[in-house]
Amino acid sequence: MAHFCVNCGAPLALQTIEGRELEVCPKDGYVLWHDPKVAAAVVVETGGGIVLGRRAIEPGYGLWCLPGGFVDDDEDPAAAAVRECMEELNAAVELTGLLGVYHIAKTTASSIVGIAYRGRLVDGESISAGPEMLEVAGFSPDELPQIAFPSHQAVLSAYLRSPAQLAGAELLNAAAAAQPASPPSPVREGRRPRRTR
Ligand SMILES: [Zn+2]
Repeated sequence: MAHFCVNCGAPLALQTIEGRELEVCPKDGYVLWHDPKVAAAVVVETGGGIVLGRRAIEPGYGLWCLPGGFVDDDEDPAAAAVRECMEELNAAVELTGLLGVYHIAKTTASSIVGIAYRGRLVDGESISAGPEMLEVAGFSPDELPQIAFPSHQAVLSAYLRSPAQLAGAELLNAAAAAQPASPPSPVREGRRPRRTR
């Protein structure tokens, strides 16, 4: 499908850049890069097991998933993970480790780079369903329900294989507590085409 320039509205034309065929604005050089989106998810540990939410929205309505969601441009992924937990579980969560980074390939939308953390409820917190969840509950690792997304299933499998490790927790929570960063770095003129957005 042909697209138009977000800067000037001109029809984009195909051009080969760094070996890839991309749509480029013939007037100002805008390039429609096919970048992935970034998402974060958390395996939240409680005394009773792993916290999951049953989705009140598509995709995956009615199925269970990890708390998580997309990372905003000015957010550290760790901060996004903590924010999503607050929105979906109504509870403060502290991150205790990084579980892994996953590429979720898609053909009809942007692919996703998923960052999965391990976390736990802050002392005294209890969970309840946020607006995007029908219910939230803790599950024993050997009695997990059907999971909405293969990527979340992969995270849970990795979690169940890995021994508890607290290394790095301080670093992650410092990142999560940091203020939203300075504005995105200015686009630099260079040999490469400008990544204007
Ligand atoms: Zn243009």
